[in-house]
This record gives sequence, C-alpha cells and structure tokens, in this order.
Amino acid sequence: MERLSIFDIFKIGVGPSSSHTLGPWKAALDFATALKDKDYDEVEVHLYGSLSKTGKGHATDTAVQLGLEGHDPTTVPTENISDYLFKIRDAEQICINQKTIIFTPNKHIFFNKTSKKAHPNTLTFKAFKAKKRVHKTTYYSVGGGFIEKKGANNQAQSTIKLPYPIDKGKDLLQYTEENNLSISAIVLENEIHFRTSTEVAAKIESIYQTMLASVFKGCRTTGILPGGLNVKRRAKKLADSLLKADHFDTPQQWLAAIWQQPKDFTTINKFVSCFAMAVNEENAALGRVVTSPTNGAAGVIPAVLLYHLAFCKNKGMSDIQKFFLTAGEVGCLFKKGATISAAVGGCQAEIGVSSAMAAAGLTEVQGGTPKQVLMAAEIAMEHHLGLTCDPIGGLVQIPCIERNSMGAIKAITASNLALSSDPDDAIVQFDTVVKTMWDTALAMNKKYKETSEGGLAYNIPVILP
Ligand code: SF4
Repeated sequence: MERLSIFDIFKIGVGPSSSHTLGPWKAALDFATALKDKDYDEVEVHLYGSLSKTGKGHATDTAVQLGLEGHDPTTVPTENISDYLFKIRDAEQICINQKTIIFTPNKHIFFNKTSKKAHPNTLTFKAFKAKKRVHKTTYYSVGGGFIEKKGANNQAQSTIKLPYPIDKGKDLLQYTEENNLSISAIVLENEIHFRTSTEVAAKIESIYQTMLASVFKGCRTTGILPGGLNVKRRAKKLADSLLKADHFDTPQQWLAAIWQQPKDFTTINKFVSCFAMAVNEENAALGRVVTSPTNGAAGVIPAVLLYHLAFCKNKGMSDIQKFFLTAGEVGCLFKKGATISAAVGGCQAEIGVSSAMAAAGLTEVQGGTPKQVLMAAEIAMEHHLGLTCDPIGGLVQIPCIERNSMGAIKAITASNLALSSDPDDAIVQFDTVVKTMWDTALAMNKKYKETSEGGLAYNIPVILP
C-alpha cells in the first residue's frame, strides 16, 4: 500500500475544493513544467465527469488558468486572484513559462458532457504548435488535492521504508501495544522518516497558524459569497454575538480572550459552529485554507482543535502536534482503505472523514487510550455513513458550510462517548467502519457523488452566471 505522510492529508491551498480546485491546479502546474522544453502556441484543457459537471461552481477553470501561469496555491496572494483572471480574460492571452500565447477561457477550457471510466475527476491538457498536437497529458484528481497522471508510477512514495508501516487501524493499535506508545508517538516515528523532526514541527506550526488565520479572517468578514447563489456570510454575525474578532489585532489575542468566556453548552456549541463556518466561508470565497482531508471539509479540524484550545485544559503546541499527528494518520487510513473523494464516495468521504479525524485527534489530546482514539474515529464515521454530496449549483456553499459545523459537533460527541466507554465492549471496530464506508461508496448512486444532479442540487435548481 502507499506510504503516506500526514502532510499529504494537510495541505495549504486555496478554496473552494481540493479535488476540483487544488488537484486541477497542481495538474496544470505539472503540465506547464512539462512544456518547458516544448515549442507550442496554443493550449487546451478538457474537463470530464464531475470536474465538468461542477467545475464552474468549484472554480476548476480558475484553478487550471492559475496553474498554467505557474502560481503556487500555497503562496499565491488570494486577494490578487481576480486580477490574474481578468488579465487573462481581457487580453485573451496566458503566460506559460514566460511565454505568452493566445488563450480565451471560454474557448480553450472544455466542459465535456462525457465522463471517463478511469476516474470521475479526469482532465486532459493538450498543447499545439500550428494546430498540430505536440504534447498531451491526462490527470486524475483523486481527492484531497492528490493527483495521478495517466501512465505514470503514482506510488513513488511506496518505496520509503517506515519503522511502523500502517495499512489498517489494527496495525496502529498493535504498534502502540508492542511499544507502549501513544498513537501520536508512533505516527511521529514514521513522519521523521519523511523529514526531520524540526521540519515536522515547523510544518505542523504552519498548518495550525494557517487554520487559525482562516478562522479569524472568516469571523471578521461580511458580504455575499461569490458564485451567483447570493449566500450571505454568517460567521461574523455569530462571532459578533459571542466575542467580536474585530476587537483583536491577532487571532492569538482573540483565542486568549475566548478562553475567558463562559463555558456553558450553548456558548461552546455556538463558538465551535462559528469556527467551522468561518473557515468554509473563506473556502467558498477562494480564500486560503488547509485541506483536512479536503477543502470542502476544511472547517471541521480547526473548529475541533480550537474547541480544545479555547475551552479545555491543554498543553498548547504539544497538544497541537499530537492532535495533527493522530488526525492525519486517521485521514491516511481512510484514503488507503476507502476514499477521501466526494466524486467517488459522496460527502461521507469529506465531512465524514474529517469528523473521524477530528474525533481521533481530540481523544488523543484529552488523554484517551489508543483504543479509545480509534473508537472515537469509528463513532464519528459510523454516523456519517451514506452522507451524499449534492451541492446546490455545484458551489461549495450549501450544504457544505453548515455541514462543517455538524461534522465538528459530531466529532466532539464521538470523542466524549469514546472517552467514557470501554472500547473492548465495542461491537464495531474502526477497520470495519472504513470498509463499510467504502462498500457504501461503491453502492451510492452516481447522482449523489459531486455531480449536482441529485438531492438538494436537484430540488433547488439554479442557473449560475
Ligand atoms: S456536500 Fe460535502 S462533499 Fe459535497 S462539496 Fe459539499 S462538503 Fe464537499
């Protein structure tokens, strides 16, 4: 099986979708790199299946243009994205590897009605010279910002030898028992075979700060989300009713002030909901978020982590590291044993997985045993099984934004249930729920897999500009 790092799951990028924005963006960057030694004067992008059906709402066309121009999704100034796009559209030109060629988005990006058997999220790039094709590559955006290239060895990382190779939850539990170590300690031992411990710590810090910044920004921003559905941002209003983020210069000051707030159920419930919605409003507005495991579900992990940091006794950065190590490994297990792509498995693969990851991370930092950690992840997923993906208008807004709040609250409930249970009494094991989620994904009707042809998207049809 593939060897994954937690940083394959947590990737800093731009909204609104990891499979429909970040993946195609990375594919475009890869294709542009391959063009460096080629002579070309025209480029076409062909989108198929779910990428075509919901690509407009998920900004796939935006992503491929930015990728072709060489912008890095991790660092691109998100406030400049509109300008970059207007420039391409108005000039009818795109700059690839310092070479400017003709490019009209409406003419050179094809939203094909057909799907490809290999994967529901398929895209093909073609380059031409004097109308003769000089290069072509097909990519599959397989979820969470991961891409695979047709005909390539996409399992290069499999060759890395890890001290604790983990394919299933039972492997993880066995290592913790044999070595008397926590789940996060086992995962850290593996991570330092991908990069140094200093780099691991720095990357976790960067992911945490990016998440915190997206919560803070979402809680200070009003207005209508882009895309034409006229969805109003709500996180700021909710934050203002609790503790105005506007009154603080930094997210750290705001977080410290939240610690002083009442800790009754309703207040905590509102804060957690607010954190999750803030991130996903930023995501819908093409802001900077961290895939966890996807962009559509990017609010769950920050909301649950901030719940721990703002309302529970905690050890600061030490807990943050343990939380990400544990949650990240649970995300890896779902990617290996099932899917983290809504186009393959519906929303159970996004919000369901993020909720399971968050439940595991929270249980680890609240002192749960390894068995309780996996029990929490199992409970969280068990109650997301069968969840469909039916975004209205193909936009990652309804039901997505509120759904992140639901995923976060379920994660906290799952953690509390696991922490107060004896996992040896559990009838359903973690690996069983992973398999069940995969079985459910295979049985799910295609119209509920990020096509906007079923569910809410069908009953609330909209024609977007
Ligand atoms: S419904 Fe769920 S899976 Fe589908 S786009 Fe929204 S958050 Fe993602």
